[in-house]
Amino acid sequence: MQQPEDNSVDVVINGAGMVGAALACLLAQAGMRVVVLEPRTEAPQQLLDELPELQSQGYDARVSALTLASQALLSYIGAWPVIEATRAAAYQGMEVWDGLGRGHIHFSAADLHEPYLGHIVENRVTLAALYQCLLMQPGIEVRNAVQMTALSAPDALGGRWLTLSQGEPLYAPLLIGADGAESLTRQLAGIPATAWDYGHHALVTSVTTEASHQWQCWQRFTEDGPLAFLPLASETPDRVSIVWSTSPAHARALLALDDEAFCDALSRASDTCLGRVLAADPRQAINLRQRHAHSYVVPGVVLAGDAAHTIHPLAGQGVNLGFLDVAALAEVLIDAHAQGETLGHLSVLRRYQRMRRSDNLRMSATMEMFRRLFGERPAPIRLLRGSGMNLVNHLSPLKNHLASMAMGLDSDLPRMARRDNSAA
Ligand SMILES: Cc1cc2nc3c(=O)[nH]c(=O)nc-3n(C[C@H](O)[C@H](O)[C@H](O)COP(=O)(O)OP(=O)(O)OC[C@H]3O[C@@H](n4cnc5c(N)ncnc54)[C@H](O)[C@@H]3O)c2cc1C
Repeated sequence: MQQPEDNSVDVVINGAGMVGAALACLLAQAGMRVVVLEPRTEAPQQLLDELPELQSQGYDARVSALTLASQALLSYIGAWPVIEATRAAAYQGMEVWDGLGRGHIHFSAADLHEPYLGHIVENRVTLAALYQCLLMQPGIEVRNAVQMTALSAPDALGGRWLTLSQGEPLYAPLLIGADGAESLTRQLAGIPATAWDYGHHALVTSVTTEASHQWQCWQRFTEDGPLAFLPLASETPDRVSIVWSTSPAHARALLALDDEAFCDALSRASDTCLGRVLAADPRQAINLRQRHAHSYVVPGVVLAGDAAHTIHPLAGQGVNLGFLDVAALAEVLIDAHAQGETLGHLSVLRRYQRMRRSDNLRMSATMEMFRRLFGERPAPIRLLRGSGMNLVNHLSPLKNHLASMAMGLDSDLPRMARRDNSAA
């Protein structure tokens, strides 16, 4: 098929999750014309309509610890004030300890002369805030309840024709895959990915605890995997979100318990660090897989966020990496668009891949190392692990470097993810 003459679209984004919505906002704010495809029927208007009532509703079981770099990007987009006004918990410290040994590390914002280390935000709050920005942009067309079913080979400019589940085929000068871990874009573009099961399911819910969370994150490495208590914004500091990574069999057993027995199991597994767990909301378990696309780019197609990589949630970095992808890709595309370059050309797309792939691979490898290290049970390894943690706890420069990494401040950040991004 020929390229259409009206040339009315610059970019098609497949997937309106946090990554796809953030990208759409940035590209449209820079004057590009964007079509967003999303199979869900309710997004974005319904979620947005619910935003005023979110405060009175229960908590989303899915939360993310957002770094200062993610906060800077979301501020740049205009979503952060909505997030802060809705519900976000700033945490000032992080307590990490080895449930099988004596090692412990305490990270503190005060040591870094910062007011906080990051924020715990419910995913639906972040998404609703992004949708609010997205719907304000006249350059964005959102097509709900629509899926791409086939993708043509690239034309000479890299452009692709998309066959859709409804309506006419759509020409995309550039197709961005932001359609999550099982990315259809990745599959239809023929991009292989390396993937393996972590052998963990993450059980997520929110609970009420006897003692205050003190605006800190608490993470215990248990025999079966890491258990995190993350502070939630509430009138009394006793509401926390749980991410309990454990074996699939244990996760199933925990799901089958009644509320009282589950709260008891959680109290024990947490060393009652926040006293007893008094009440729990409905639970769900998510299979955890590591994935990394062999390439983020082929002519006319680029991957971002979970479509390109997924990692273990033990350090809460998944969508933070996704937001750095967003900042880097937006920077590259906005510059290329201003220079009149062809957006789908590999020479443009590879600039983004160079900015992001090695950082993402490094983070994946680090998570894998932590997961393996804390999965080891032999006594000598536990002893060494504990001594290592205690040593790091007393070595301020190394500890502060690790904390800066977790806050998303260590690397050479894309312009829009820097805290001084007003001139980006
Ligand atoms: C238990 C757990 C805890 C986590 N905690 C943290 C944390 O503390 N901090 C952090 O940074 N990260 C965390 N993460 C990771 C984070 O949740 C993900 O990285 C993030 O949700 C990825 O966003 P995304 O927009 O790339 O993908 P998704 O959120 O998966 O969004 C994909 C979008 O694409 C749509 N879609 C799906 N299929 C198609 C299709 N065929 N066509 C078009 N659209 C499609 C979906 O409907 C959705 O809207 C955690 C993950 C887990 C599992």
